[in-house]
Amino acid sequence: MTQISRNNPFDYRVGFGVDIHQLVEGRPLIIGGVEIDSPVGAMGHSDSDVLLHAIIDAILGAAALRDIGFHFPDTDDQYKGINSKILLKKAYDLVKEKGYQLGNLDTTVMLEAPKLNPHIPKMQEIIADVFQVDSDRISIKATTGEKMGFVGEGKGIRAYCSALICKM
Ligand code: MG
Repeated sequence: MTQISRNNPFDYRVGFGVDIHQLVEGRPLIIGGVEIDSPVGAMGHSDSDVLLHAIIDAILGAAALRDIGFHFPDTDDQYKGINSKILLKKAYDLVKEKGYQLGNLDTTVMLEAPKLNPHIPKMQEIIADVFQVDSDRISIKATTGEKMGFVGEGKGIRAYCSALICKM
């Protein structure tokens, strides 16, 4: 007979997050905490880091702690122009208060241009530092919209994130 693990299956929880931003002239393009040279940047209330926002929603979702807009409303002036790493830290504090720590993240950023691949190791390092884990647990993938839809036409950027959290 197979040995049944005594671990409670709810010691492990998955979450999912998605975020989009419009791309406009006159804004910086900040993705995963890295400022990327680009003629257009993401519009929004905070620094508009689409990847960190998707990650925030994924870890909050895994812990059933609602979403980024619930905790950090874009109508609140204290979050205007804020570095999203601060929001990610605050969101992770809420997850830890509920007794969970990060297992791993898997993410995909969709952007037509510029190429993100050269920046991915730095993004992994920045995000891993927020979670205080090895960057091996932070997967970042990049793809385009193949010239279709708002991503493909260069009008916007989208990020997805799956997160696993574990009981501490
Ligand atoms: Mg956002």
